[in-house]
Amino acid sequence: MNISCNVIRDLLPLYHDQVCSEDSRRLVEEHLKACPACQKELDSYDKESVQSDNLEEAKMIQNTARIWEKNRLASFLKGAMIVSFLACFSCIAAFNLIGSYIADDGTLVEPFGFIPIAWLFALLGIILAVGYAFARRIGKGRRNTK
Ligand SMILES: [Zn+2]
Repeated sequence: MNISCNVIRDLLPLYHDQVCSEDSRRLVEEHLKACPACQKELDSYDKESVQSDNLEEAKMIQNTARIWEKNRLASFLKGAMIVSFLACFSCIAAFNLIGSYIADDGTLVEPFGFIPIAWLFALLGIILAVGYAFARRIGKGRRNTK
């Protein structure tokens, strides 16, 4: 049977979506066996639908990953901030608990080292707090625009 390629190409979308009649399906399949051009056309339908499916899925996964990434970053910054402030207060507490005394030769013995360390941790904590606030604002903004 000889059907023109144009007829087959009219049927191809229906054939691809499997909504054509049994007779049309048989016609298309018969033609496809003998016509590489129409076979190629059908392949392009397959690719298109796979691509659009993948694209949507990929977008969804990307969005989810982005939100996760933001939440993970915010959680990490929050945890690091808390640890920094705790370390800062620990240093101050240690400095006060250890206390100071005057050695036999008259020098003051004090755990001075804790003071700059405490300040360093305080500074780190403040930086992390700013970062955390920033990360949360970005996360919220993204959720609100959706
Ligand atoms: Zn053909």
